[in-house]
Amino acid sequence: MTTPYICITCGTQFPPSERPPERCPICDDERQYVGWSGQRWTTLDEMRRDHRNEIRDDLGLTGVGTAPSFAIGQRALLVRTPEGNLLWDCITLIDDAAVAAIRDLGGIRAIAISHPHYYSCVVEWSRAFDAAVYLHAADRQWMMRPEPVVEFWDGDTKTLWSGMTLIRAGGHFAGGTVLHHPQGAGGRGALLAGDIIQVVQDRRWVSFMYSFPNYIPLAAAEVDRIVASVEPYEFDRVYGAWWDRNVESGAKESVRRSADRYKKALAGAAT
Ligand SMILES: [Zn+2]
Ligand SMILES: [Zn+2]
Repeated sequence: MTTPYICITCGTQFPPSERPPERCPICDDERQYVGWSGQRWTTLDEMRRDHRNEIRDDLGLTGVGTAPSFAIGQRALLVRTPEGNLLWDCITLIDDAAVAAIRDLGGIRAIAISHPHYYSCVVEWSRAFDAAVYLHAADRQWMMRPEPVVEFWDGDTKTLWSGMTLIRAGGHFAGGTVLHHPQGAGGRGALLAGDIIQVVQDRRWVSFMYSFPNYIPLAAAEVDRIVASVEPYEFDRVYGAWWDRNVESGAKESVRRSADRYKKALAGAAT
């Protein structure tokens, strides 16, 4: 009997094994942390007993998140287009009710993920919908379950369908990716950014970090690179990684202004 174990702190699923793995490399990395009571594991069956998925609107897109919150607590977003739906970012729990509800919405053609902290149970999600999986090749080493369905794309951008583009922004992870959705925000364009461009508590602003839990900032040059990577695209909105964590409008200017504020702080000048 083998089980694909799941790390409780980061929500990453590992390949099937007889016993839980010794360590979780994602949590051992300085961008994450091992839970205070030590490395602990769960399984999908265990999770299904006391968690369920919630599917609801999040500022015009369909959000998919787990309640109560699990691991890092991100919600995924289903971008619906006539040419097929994209699941942006991924979550750990997959349950029958969510699969049925998403099938009713047209299923999933492909899954793209901002960075390794949200790789979660992507292989299970891909199997349930026969969906392609696009991850940036620069983060290949962090994919704990690199099955053949996973396509590691290389370079600065990858064109999808319906005008959507995956953009390698880097920063928090070398392959850190954001999605440009030109029809988003009522046709004004949206970026789906995970925490590569992090929408902060004051949702008129964003920020950038190498590690969020451990507060390790990024160098000014990295911040410049992130801003430059999205500069060619029109967008009025940024969707962050959690429910309702979005810059609703004026987001392109917000990204520029937030980068300036950040770099000023790094340089030692109060804003
Ligand atoms: Zn972990
Ligand atoms: Zn992260």
